Amino acid sequence: MSRWRLVLVTCPGVGIRSVLVWLKRRWKCDNPGCGRATFTEVVPQVPAGVRLTERLREQAAALVGEVGASVSVAAGVCGLSWPRTHQGLHRAR
Ligand SMILES: [Zn+2]
Repeated sequence: MSRWRLVLVTCPGVGIRSVLVWLKRRWKCDNPGCGRATFTEVVPQVPAGVRLTERLREQAAALVGEVGASVSVAAGVCGLSWPRTHQGLHRAR
């Protein structure tokens, strides 16, 4: 088992941009018949391959979808870039 550092952007606290550092565990599979040589931790709040928390993505999507804010305003409030905010809207369920 090894660990690697994943830095995630999460919801700003009192208007200050926040990051979350997760020391993610990576395991090696000893089964010779296994197609996956290694695998890492995954939690619902942080799907594989993303660099912001689901909570922050939901907050940005709610500002646009429920409050009626523009993508630019939501991006500013959440401390994200416009493209990242816009991309998160397409992942909304
Ligand atoms: Zn395996």
